[in-house]
Amino acid sequence: MIARPVGKRRRPGLASHPMNHRILAAALAASALSVPPLFAQRVAPPPPATVDPKVAALRDAAMSDTMAYDIIEGLTTEVGQRLAGTEAEARARQWAVVKLKAMGFKNVRIEPYQMPVWVRGEESATILSPFPQTLTLAALGNSGATPAGGLTAPVVVFATYGDLAAAPAGSLTGKIAYVGNAMQPTQDGSSYGQSGPARFVGPALAASKGAAAIVIRSIGTDHHRFPHTGTTNFPAGVTPIPAAALSVPDAEQLERIAARGKPVMMKLVLTPRQTGTHESGNVIAEVPGSDPSAGIVLVGGHLDSWDLGTGAIDDASGVAITATAAKRIMDAGRPRRTIRVVWFGAEEVGGFGGKDYARVHAQERHAIAAESDFGADRIWRFEVNLPDSAKPVADRLASALAPIGITRGTAIGGDGTDIAPTLALGVGAVDLNQSGLQYFDTHHTPDDGIDRIDRAQLSQNVAAWTAMLAIVANAPEAIGPVTPRK
Ligand SMILES: [Zn+2]
Repeated sequence: MIARPVGKRRRPGLASHPMNHRILAAALAASALSVPPLFAQRVAPPPPATVDPKVAALRDAAMSDTMAYDIIEGLTTEVGQRLAGTEAEARARQWAVVKLKAMGFKNVRIEPYQMPVWVRGEESATILSPFPQTLTLAALGNSGATPAGGLTAPVVVFATYGDLAAAPAGSLTGKIAYVGNAMQPTQDGSSYGQSGPARFVGPALAASKGAAAIVIRSIGTDHHRFPHTGTTNFPAGVTPIPAAALSVPDAEQLERIAARGKPVMMKLVLTPRQTGTHESGNVIAEVPGSDPSAGIVLVGGHLDSWDLGTGAIDDASGVAITATAAKRIMDAGRPRRTIRVVWFGAEEVGGFGGKDYARVHAQERHAIAAESDFGADRIWRFEVNLPDSAKPVADRLASALAPIGITRGTAIGGDGTDIAPTLALGVGAVDLNQSGLQYFDTHHTPDDGIDRIDRAQLSQNVAAWTAMLAIVANAPEAIGPVTPRK
């Protein structure tokens, strides 16, 4: 496409008209006289909070940040995939300690804990009849295994999770259940909650109805042939069955095959295994504050990733964004509150790091907690859960974030797997919401790599976090306990 010449489309400005002052004055006088009564009686809103020039300067400097990208590039290149509880995640912790010390943080340390570890094995799916062909899929975390030689069974197709839920008990005995539950992109990511149950609890539900195995349509919004993995959960008493996600095009292919009306026979080979209990850990770094009584500002993301990709968007971005913002505040002078950066371990497979952090640090006073775990796209909205005493803090956030395109949400903040156990203790929250319109295209796929990062959007993200930390860490108001969001 050829770009339209911009210059020729410019309209002459009002200032170029010789009569402009008189025209303008007349127009203003006329409009003042004809203001509709309803509009005239509206109460003027209070003026927005002023933005501290130091906050604005920090925010604007971060708009050309390169540090966060360098952390993402370093972690994904020098460590690569880092499945929770494995040797790769341990290497990631060592890498993190070296990096955070080099950045100048204080009290850099690893806090270890133990966790059960699941690892992927072989995986393949073959349609034996009516139209023999192979399909692309990936096992879900905690999936059970087929026999080494595979499992062959008829497929029962359910368009949605609700259809699976409606299937009579025992009706799936000896069969492979398939669940569609197609997902659409949403800016706030809420469609993950709508479509996700097919993965989160679909396998356990199918098992309870006697299914031999389950394959689902990937919980993703793309049309590439990368399946999306992710954790599924089998409650105590339910024996895990083999469970995998087909790529979206392969799921649609299976639905087309089934729509021909002939019985569909599938051979499934999935040989993942539980390897027992192993060590994982959280990596912690601090910017010490001048007033220990003011409470800790906890920020972070998760260091582990799925085993299929290098986890650039999930969640090298989150650890990089939060550490970079903290570093920018540290370099500008000592903040009032201690900023604690936590690179949590083992988020993907059950939030083990977040739970362990809350257990170890429950007695410490936290002012707020904030988590970045939704990729590297731009921040479009913020939401808070702050006590009334800290309402001016939210007003200052609104003023400081508006110039970089961020709106103030009206819901109560407090999102994130890793900080949820800490928030449940009554700690305040600030959510910086990233756009989810593209996040689920590559989430949990082999395609989650450094080439998914848009550097301009990443920098806006860092600028938002930097401004947030500059305001919250230095706020003179008390930021006390809150009622956790339900
Ligand atoms: Zn994540």
